[in-house]
Formats: sequence, C-alpha cells, structure tokens
Amino acid sequence: MSELLDFDEVIESFDPVLGLEVHVELGTESKMFDAAPNGFGDEPNTFVTPVSLGLPGSLPVVNEKAVEYAIKIGLALNCEIAEYCRFARKNYFYPDLTKNYQISQYDEPIAYDGYLDVELDDGTVHRIEIERAHMEEDAGKNTHVGGTGRIQGAKYSLVDYNRAGVPLVEIVTRPIEGTKERAAEVAAAYVRTLRDIFRALGVSEARMERGNVRADVNVSLRENPDAPFGTRTETKNVNSFTAISAAVEYEMRRQAAILKSGGTITQETRHFHEEDGTTSSGREKSDAEDYRYFPEPDLVPLSPSREWVEELRASLPEMPAARRKRLQGEWGFADLEMRDVINAGAIDIIEETVHAGASPAAARKWWMGELARYANEQGQALADLPATPADIAELDGLVQEGKLNDKLARQALDGTLAGEGSPAQVAAKRGLEIISDDSALESAVDEALAANPDIVEKIKGGKVQAAGAIVGAVMKATRGQADAGRVREIIMERCQ
Ligand code: ADP
Ligand code: MG
Repeated sequence: MSELLDFDEVIESFDPVLGLEVHVELGTESKMFDAAPNGFGDEPNTFVTPVSLGLPGSLPVVNEKAVEYAIKIGLALNCEIAEYCRFARKNYFYPDLTKNYQISQYDEPIAYDGYLDVELDDGTVHRIEIERAHMEEDAGKNTHVGGTGRIQGAKYSLVDYNRAGVPLVEIVTRPIEGTKERAAEVAAAYVRTLRDIFRALGVSEARMERGNVRADVNVSLRENPDAPFGTRTETKNVNSFTAISAAVEYEMRRQAAILKSGGTITQETRHFHEEDGTTSSGREKSDAEDYRYFPEPDLVPLSPSREWVEELRASLPEMPAARRKRLQGEWGFADLEMRDVINAGAIDIIEETVHAGASPAAARKWWMGELARYANEQGQALADLPATPADIAELDGLVQEGKLNDKLARQALDGTLAGEGSPAQVAAKRGLEIISDDSALESAVDEALAANPDIVEKIKGGKVQAAGAIVGAVMKATRGQADAGRVREIIMERCQ
C-alpha cells in the first residue's frame, strides 16, 4: 500500500482540483445504433445483432430515443444543445469492442457549456460547471476467469456482447476548484444529484449497484489556489457514492505523500478497490491523439431542430432540488427535518402518504420514527416494509378521529408490520379501541379511587396534579385503551 498523508495535513499544504466523468446507461428499448434489445444482464450474447457484433457489412443507425434522452439530460444540466454535431470513431483494440473502435462524440458533443448546482448536507451549494455531455455506445463485458478477476493471471476470458452498443451519455465537468476539505463530499453529492436527475427525467433507472451510473474520478493537487493545475490521476468506473468519496480522499492523501517527499505524480488511470478503499495503478493515460479520432463515416450528422429542443425543454419534469424546496414549503418542515427526510430517502414515501390522506407531520413522524427504526432493524428499505403509505394514512385517520391514541396506534402498526392486515383491521382484530363509553370508564375510575384513598384526599384538598396517578391506574387497568381526557374529567367529578 502506498504511503498516505494525514488528511488534515493534505488540506494545510495543498489545494485539490477534481474532474468527474459520469457515464449513464440510457433506458431505451434498443441499443444506440442497433435494433438489438437494450437488456444487459440477461443470458449472455442473446441480445446481439450483426451490428452489436461488428460483422462486416453491418451499419449503424442512430436511436432517436437515445438522442431525445441525451438532449433532455443536456437541458436539465443547463447546457447549450448543438445545432449540428457528429459522431466520431475512437480507435482502440480490446476484446469487448468488436469493431476495434467505439462510436462516440469527440469535439462536437450534443450538449455543452452547462452547470449543475449541488447542495451539500449542510445546505451549502456548490456550482459544478459542465464542459459537455456526449453520446456514445458501451462496450461488451469481459469476465476474466481464474486468478484475481483481472486479465493479468487469468486462465481465460469470456465476453458478453449484450452490453455492446448500449446507449451511454457521458457528462464531463470542467475542473472543479475551491472544494478544499469538502472535495470528497462535493464529488459524491454531484453524482447523487445527477442520479436523482436521471431518475426524474426517466432516462435511466440509474441503479448505481448495477453500474447504470459510473464515474471516472480525476484528482490533482496544487500548492495553492493560484498555482497552475497539478498532474491528475483518473480512477475509473467508481460506482457508489461512498466509493467516489473514498477514491477522492485516498488519491488526495496518496498524491500529497508523494509530492511532500519531492516526488511527481504520474498521469495514469487507477483502479478503485472496494474492500479497503484504496486505488492502484492502471495504465499510463493515452493522450486523445492516440485514439486517432475521426468523424464516423457511417453516420449522418445530427441536427436536432430548435422546435424539437424547445418541445423537450417544455416537457422537462420538475427537477429534484426544486421539488424538494416545494414539498418542504407545502409540508411546513424545518430545514433540519427536511434534511433528515432527504437523507433517509423518505421523500417519495412521505409524499405518497400525504396523498393518501395523512397530515405531513404524521407522515414524517411515523416514517422517520417507528418505521425507520423497524426498517433499520430488519435491514430493509422503507418502501419494502409491509406497511404502505395507505396504511399510515389510515393509521393517522384513526388517531385523528380519536379512535386510537398514540400508544394504541403503535400497537396497530406493530400488527400491520407483523402481517396482520391494515391498521384498522389490526385494531378490530386485537380489540384496540379507545374506551370512551362512560359506564365502563366510571367503574374503572371508581375502582382506582377506592384503591387509593390517600390520593383522593389530596385531590379533594386541591392537589389537582395528584389525579395523574389515578389516570395512570385506569390506563393500566384498561391496557392503555381508556380515553385519558374523559378519565380525568370523571375523576374530577367524583372528587368534588
Ligand atoms: P480524458 O479523455 O483523459 O478522460 P476528459 O477531458 O474526458 O479527459 O476528462 C478529464 C476530466 O478531468 C474533466 O472533468 C476535466 O475537467 C478534469 N481535469 C482536467 N485537468 C485536471 C486536473 N489537472 N486535475 C483534476 N481534474 C482535471
Ligand atoms: Mg474522458
């Protein structure tokens, strides 16, 4: 393992610069240039055509839906949409790339010059400038068998071409400056914000764990913010938020240790290791010239009409950040409350619960309290719990109508979580209901008063707060089901 400088020392002596290249797989029905289904993950080599396999004589055709999605992404990132752009061949050999070139875009991307405002956990906003968003096709997937899973030392390798030709959009930032000690946090928050946007746009399921979204993380250090950029490393294909943070932090500490001891940074790609959060050297980075980019001769240029672009702009959904602001206002949540809801990933479920009729405060109380605890214990997501938004709205309704108090509501919810039915069904089955029938309450009060003559004396003597003990006794006797307000009234009547 490389030597690492202590993080605080890194920040004292260096200024980090980041660059993020995020690939997102588009959720189109078919591939980027090919009628084969876009279904990576199925039986290997079943979703292929002569185009996916790069057979002689096969020709690519652009997927209109993929272009639409790319334009939507560009618009959501405040980019200009090119009036005219072309695809380009990026030439290199690798077994997962049947044609020996990848069709990408080079100096004529479909979208360019945008920005994205990224909100950190404490509410500060960092603006990330977007250099470009371009379309390209994915490569197939190699599996190296025997050894460590890398090609070195493997016995043999298998190739699955289902992924070959899956449409990708790659979003490239300009160098991100000024993040200082929050570099790792900014990088992860940026990719999370992008992920939320992809989902809101409906252009991708954006499941990080499936590799739908992958980031190449560029990091360099310089001595101070006025110095020219240092040499960067590029950690490839990092696909979780924690891994992105870890890669940034590790590279900062590794590079700082080298620079401190008088060494220089090699411009190279690096691999991230999930197990211990380290990176290791990949290959020395080719310069763009090595790829011998040239305009793709098999495809006509793209020239999306301005009318189409404006139509797509008008069709964009509300962006996640704006939606969060709107909902916070509608729900009347404090900043901290809203942040907790966001961090718990509970916005959608609270919104559904409110739609189903619950008050926002009750929806938050149940999902962030009892249900969050239960989900945590079970290692489940809120959305996968046996209790649904409709159940919680029903539960809140029972409380509002005075049929259940808080304690009984918790018991009803326990029943729902145990699979006994909706809260109303559980309440009926378990006989959970507030007893407000006076005759039943009166006899319970009389019993409690008879058992506690000393307290009766106190109440009669004007110590009204002593009634609490009698209320408690009645609640206990009725297993928490008495209407506590009514019980107190009866006690006061009796003790006049
Ligand atoms: P490559 O072809 O090497 O991947 P790209 O231009 O596609 O190059 O992406 C490089 C990324 O790194 C961009 O986000 C860019 O803004 C960023 N970048 C460029 N120079 C530096 C640097 N010195 N330190 C950190 N990031 C950098
Ligand atoms: Mg790149």
